[in-house]
Amino acid sequence: MKALLYERKDSEVVCKACNRKCKIPPNYSGFCGVRYNIKNELLVVNWGIFIAVALDPIEKKPLYHFYPGSKALSLGTTGCSFACKYCLNWDISQRRKIVGIKLEPEEIIELAKENNTRIITFTYNEPSIYAEFSYEVSKLAKREGMKVTWVSNGYFTDELIDFISKFVDAVTIDIKGNGNEGFARKYISVLNYSETVLHAIEELYKKKVHVEVTDLVIPEIGDSLEDARKVSKRIYDIMGEESNIHFLRFYPEYKLSYLYQTPIETLERHARIAKEEGIRYVYIGNVPGHELENTYCPNCGKPVIERKGFTVYRVNLEDGRCKHCGYRVFLKGEARTSEIYYPEPIYLNKPFVERVIKDDRIEEREVK
Ligand code: SF4
Repeated sequence: MKALLYERKDSEVVCKACNRKCKIPPNYSGFCGVRYNIKNELLVVNWGIFIAVALDPIEKKPLYHFYPGSKALSLGTTGCSFACKYCLNWDISQRRKIVGIKLEPEEIIELAKENNTRIITFTYNEPSIYAEFSYEVSKLAKREGMKVTWVSNGYFTDELIDFISKFVDAVTIDIKGNGNEGFARKYISVLNYSETVLHAIEELYKKKVHVEVTDLVIPEIGDSLEDARKVSKRIYDIMGEESNIHFLRFYPEYKLSYLYQTPIETLERHARIAKEEGIRYVYIGNVPGHELENTYCPNCGKPVIERKGFTVYRVNLEDGRCKHCGYRVFLKGEARTSEIYYPEPIYLNKPFVERVIKDDRIEEREVK
């Protein structure tokens, strides 16, 4: 469980997995609560301990241009490099206890096979905090012809970008609150936010990783149309014909439960701005039944992948081309009607364990 992304500085270690670059003294963890300095080495202490395991429609990630209609074995651990005050998964992401069931990389591959899927997704909390574990899974996955994807906050170092571009096939990166710096400082607890994340999108895209971009629009505090325009312009400059953005509706949760759902008109205004800036594939997410759940051909404007919620119910493509006009649509893998319609939690008959640091030792015990 030794980390790869760090350097030593006297008795401290400096983590290079995310742009916080925590300087970690002996026997302490970084901000995320899972990477510990033990005897002057950085260890990934949540290594192979998963608190959430499910089979999800890939549309839930959301990946709309990467094997649309497929199901993905989805896994999450505890901890996160962000402290979003509205996190839907706050119970696991903000937990600073490392708990869950143990799964070795081989078992994850077997689980994918048993569930008849070739896509493994690290999601629910931030995968960069245990990037080295997903690398181990990817080595086995490649041998089986499987794909590895991440759902991430994109707050990466260049070292992390170089590392994951070798084994992550697709990534969904969330630009929260239109990338507004004040919003990020106050509601996520990060600095130098938007440029770091946009840089990650640009570099990963250049390195041929499939990238889809989301933007969680939060009423009153993270819904500026001016910011949305800046982000959209930048995404178009980076991705051109493959530019995409999913504006996601916010649902009140955690410390922002006093707010209200993002009005649909606000999301539609954002979508109009993204189209004005040239983005080819513009979506509205978390509004089941909205017409912008569909993928439209950028050439003739007709729907080429039709969706409702997480379900793909019609595909109007032939060999990746629009059936109506023949335009080649941005797509990795085959599009199909949905294999599953809803997330399906996977319950495994395994003990729940907790890993703790005692002085400079890692101890593991069963949680009753
Ligand atoms: S991954 Fe964790 S320990 Fe490393 S820099 Fe980010 S928050 Fe700090």
